[in-house]
Amino acid sequence: MEIDMDRLVCTECNEEFPLNEKIWKCTCGGLLDIDFKSAFPVDKIKGRKPTMWRYREAIPILDDKNIISFDEGFTPLIDVAFNDKSVLVKQDHLFPTGSYKDRGASVLVSKVGELAIRKVVEDSSGNAGCAIAAYCAKAQIDCEIFVPEDTAAGKLAQIQFYKAKLNKIPGSREDTGHAVLKAAEIYYYASHSWNPFFFHGTKTFAFEVCEQLGWKSPDTVILPVGNGTLLLGAYIGFNELLGAGIIDKIPKIIAVQAVNCAPLYKAFKEHLEEIPEIDKKDALAEGIAIAKPIRGKQIVEAVKESKGDFIAVDDWEIKKSLRDIGEKGFYIEPTAASTTAGISKYVQRSHSDETIVSVFTGNGLKTTEKMVKILDE
Ligand SMILES: *Cc1c(COP(=O)(O)O)cnc(C)c1O
Ligand SMILES: [Zn+2]
Repeated sequence: MEIDMDRLVCTECNEEFPLNEKIWKCTCGGLLDIDFKSAFPVDKIKGRKPTMWRYREAIPILDDKNIISFDEGFTPLIDVAFNDKSVLVKQDHLFPTGSYKDRGASVLVSKVGELAIRKVVEDSSGNAGCAIAAYCAKAQIDCEIFVPEDTAAGKLAQIQFYKAKLNKIPGSREDTGHAVLKAAEIYYYASHSWNPFFFHGTKTFAFEVCEQLGWKSPDTVILPVGNGTLLLGAYIGFNELLGAGIIDKIPKIIAVQAVNCAPLYKAFKEHLEEIPEIDKKDALAEGIAIAKPIRGKQIVEAVKESKGDFIAVDDWEIKKSLRDIGEKGFYIEPTAASTTAGISKYVQRSHSDETIVSVFTGNGLKTTEKMVKILDE
């Protein structure tokens, strides 16, 4: 691996830093991306264990001994009918902690260990906190998770079972964000939205999809978006495969937001230069209810570049989709059902025989109280 060539690059001022610098943002305050030359030795990959680490040459960890893994990934890609239309759905609710966030956590926490950092902080509406806490437990790295006070009880319990320190912050998701930024002045911020290594884990979603399709790109991917950790990761992944000559096009990205919190939908549809301030309401899909996504512009740009589109779904549609999916034998959490509601909306207007790929992002077992309530309605 020509790892010496690889760099952290600021998206604001273009300043470059070595890949092993202990930073999560630029000195100018800008977001960092990773300039990384990935490789895909297809024949070798085929012979490896079915985990996301089979794409070893495409993951920016220097030394194998630093890898923190539960053999996660390479989730099944299953054909699910939506209004009689076939959609291939990645079963990412089957990850060790119950959501695809493990993709990002595995790479990020491996990097944290590689940098010899002994304590991290992270904020989350639940699933990212669970994932970072679990991987830190495996790596024996101290971890403090900041969550909004009203986070689902199951997710709070899960974080505590992993022995992370839990800080419940009163107020909004944004207040939790402010609280963790204070802590991040002292400790390394293992953020799923700021830290670029997280996205170099979630990008394995794209690698797996393409390999499972016989090293071909789908025509369309339908993905949820709040902070865009899966969407931007997938976009990076498809671009790396395109750059390596493995696939010949980037799929069209259809991004799904919840109507109650849809700043990116609004920016895209109204061709706005800046991500607008929105009046955020309570959202059933708490996992994607992000009023001020810090990578908002990158997300809108990625969807535009892919010639994709945005869809917004409301709580009624999410509940209906949750029930429909259950009737097919799948149990997913309400946030994950925003995506499936988006699929239903999309296929109604799609008439071609395109290959559509989407995802179950989180397990229904995480949100039992919400599921019981929905059942009683
Ligand atoms: C994190 C998450 C998403 C996507 O959220 P982003 O904010 O875009 O990263 C979707 N579904 C579930 C279950 C999640 O945990
Ligand atoms: Zn900068």
